[in-house]
This record gives sequence, C-alpha cells and structure tokens, in this order.
Amino acid sequence: MSASRRVTLKPGDTIGILGGGQLGRMLALAAARLGLKCQVFSPDPDSPAFDVVQNATCAEYADVEALELFAADVDVVTYEFENIPASTAMVLAARRPVLPDYRILETVQDRLLEKNFISGLGIATAPYADVTSPQTLREAIKVVGLPAVIKTRRFGYDGKGQAIIRDGDDPGQAWDDLGTRSAIAEAFVPFEREISVIAARGADGRVECFDVTENEHRDHILKYSRVPAAVSDTLAAQARDIAKKIADALDYVGVLAVEMFVVAGPGGPKLLVSEIAPRVHNSGHWTLDGASVSQFEQHIRAVAGWSLGKPVRHGSVVMTNLIGDDILDYSKWLTVPGASVHIYGKGAQRPGRKMGHVTEVKNGDVKT
Ligand code: AMP
Repeated sequence: MSASRRVTLKPGDTIGILGGGQLGRMLALAAARLGLKCQVFSPDPDSPAFDVVQNATCAEYADVEALELFAADVDVVTYEFENIPASTAMVLAARRPVLPDYRILETVQDRLLEKNFISGLGIATAPYADVTSPQTLREAIKVVGLPAVIKTRRFGYDGKGQAIIRDGDDPGQAWDDLGTRSAIAEAFVPFEREISVIAARGADGRVECFDVTENEHRDHILKYSRVPAAVSDTLAAQARDIAKKIADALDYVGVLAVEMFVVAGPGGPKLLVSEIAPRVHNSGHWTLDGASVSQFEQHIRAVAGWSLGKPVRHGSVVMTNLIGDDILDYSKWLTVPGASVHIYGKGAQRPGRKMGHVTEVKNGDVKT
C-alpha cells in the first residue's frame, strides 16, 4: 500500500472535491453529516456545490497556483467527474493523497482503453473495434456488424459524441459527422434492460455493493432508476461480482458505478459491461433516501479512510430525474406522499440538463 492511501481523517478535517456539479454538492452534504468539511474546486462560478460549502476555489484546472493553494487547505482530494486533466491530478497528487488514484482516469477517460481493460479481466462487453478513419470504420463494421454505435474515445457522456450506423447509412458521412480522429465502433446491443451496480471499496480493500439498479434512459439520458432490478438473484450476484472484480483490479478507493446491458442468451440472460464511472453516479441517487447509507456517504467514508457502511435498503425504490423543464413541476412533487425532492440549485434549466431528482420508497420487498 502506498503512503498516499494511508489516510485517516478525523471529524473537522477537510476533503477537497474537484468539480462543482450536483455530485459534488451531494458529496459535500454527506461529508457535513459526518462532521467533515469540504472545499470545492471548480472553474464555473455558478457551481451548485459552492452553495453548500464554506470554502470554494473558482479557478481553471490548469491554474497551478490555485491548485497549490487548494492542496494546502485540504487533507485529501477526490473528484466528482472523470474528465479531470491528468496534469491537474498530478499537481495535487504531489502534495496530497488523491483518491481514487488518478492514474485510473487514463483508463476510464478513454473508451478504447476502458474496453480493453474490461475484456482483459475476462468480463464480457459488446464486440468493439478501434476506429481512426472512414476506412477503419468500414473494417470495424465487418467485425461488429450493423447496426453499430460509433463513440468518440474521449469526452463522451449522456449520448454525446455517439451515433448509430444502420444498414444503408454511409459510414464515411457518419465518420465526418462525428468529427473526431479516434473512436470505437461497438455492436448495437439489443438489450432486455440496462442495469448498474454502485460499488464502494475502502482503503482496506473491503467492497460493499448496493442492490442492483435498473435504469431507463430517454434520449440517452437517465430518466428512471428502479430498485431492485427485475433480474434473478443469480444475475444480480453476477453483476455485483463483476463490479467487485473491476474495483479490486483498479485497487480502487471510493465509489464507482458499472453500467451493464442484460441481453437474452440461449442459456438465459447474460451481462455485458457497457461503461465504468469512477465516481458516484446518477443511478445511485436513490440511496440517499432508499438505503441506510448513501453512495455519497460511502465515498466520503472511503476517501476519509473510515469503515464503509453495510447498506440496508428501505424498500422498493423509484428515482425520477428532473431534466430540463421537468424542474418546473417541483411544487407538484412536494405534495406527492412519500416523495423526497432534491433540487440542485442550478441556474437556468436547459433541455437535457439535470436539475434535480425525486425518490419514492415503497415499503415491503426489503432485500439486504
Ligand atoms: P454511454 O454514453 O456509452 O453510456 O451510452 C448512453 C446510452 O446509449 C446507454 O445507456 C444505452 O442506452 C445507449 N447505448 C450505448 N451503447 C450502446 C450499444 N452498444 N447498444 C445499444 N445501446 C447503446
């Protein structure tokens, strides 16, 4: 174990969070409940996480002086999104422990390296191929078949930087429209459902997974998460084992999410891993109201070097994302019996912007 991982914070200590979105905001709120302070670093002056912390640094990620001052103020650094520049993490890592280890970001920021890593663990993914030109895209389509999904290797999220190529489409045109030089082509997966596992791994290597969540997307953006997922106990156990294997292989400290497709197979449904998110994840928001310990608290405990909680779910849960104009309905949601309303305090709603979420927990069907 490297020196950087031997962190044990005490109440009153400060966690530095890179990124100031709603994930950072909910991490800071969870830390406050445990008596820990957070300092948020974000280039965006309107960061929703700034509202809930006393100390914030509003500076660019390349601002080395600001990073040095930030590092001096905090005891450990973590992040709430994966596109932190490697150079930023390196400046901080030279001064403070950064958890999870920032070297993981190189793998998960790049869809090709990520897929190679997952396959290297013997875990199934959709067939995929490296694409660097219209010619290699044509070759890739011969391997993965049609329809195919092309995705930029870096900086894609919520369906951005992706396109579907169907029979009859011109791959050359699709390549030009994607506007990149490095992409992957993936077989289009005719999935039965999409699920995710939110796993927490402590500095001691202990892993705690939340119950498997079923996710429904609209226009590539998560709309609903339902727990428990409508999968057999065997498949749920396999999904948790996959998440644990990935967390162990990365020697991970903190919370990560593994998104998977459930596909029909001759011997019953099987799992294909679609993506790893090295952070708390939208499909784990239900844990704030639906479990004894939330994903945010688990992450804070892990990076603080504290024991993880053993999550117990309170019932069957539905999480509804309030996206864009959905937020205008917040006052209706306030009157729904049993609904817990979360509003992220972002400025203007825009189509596709995650503005808040609502959790509804129904008692009964309590699995531990
Ligand atoms: P991603 O940005 O890779 O997480 O993709 C966002 C969403 O697009 C996924 O949650 C799926 O709903 C859909 N999607 C991505 N890749 C595929 C695929 N290979 N086959 C079918 N649907 C996909």
